[in-house]
Amino acid sequence: MASSQEFEASPSTIIVNYKECRRNYAIAVGGHAVDGCREFAPSGEQGTQQALLCQACSCHRSFHRKEVIGDGVVHTTHLPAPPPTVALGQPVAP
Ligand SMILES: [Zn+2]
Repeated sequence: MASSQEFEASPSTIIVNYKECRRNYAIAVGGHAVDGCREFAPSGEQGTQQALLCQACSCHRSFHRKEVIGDGVVHTTHLPAPPPTVALGQPVAP
């Protein structure tokens, strides 16, 4: 567990990054609203419970989009598309 890991340039090196937060705060009312957190940053030391919580938005790591980089290829998890945002006469922001 606590053993040091070597990150050498081996073909099997896989890097996992957690990107923007996808937590939907408006799911209870059928809407879609996220906190705007752009990248997961652990709140504590690796291996602790705190390491699974985002320092920026306090959400669990699982709410963040997972990006796996292996052999120079980026694999992005395919989450189900969020429900369409109901825009009442407002242009959809990019
Ligand atoms: Zn969040």
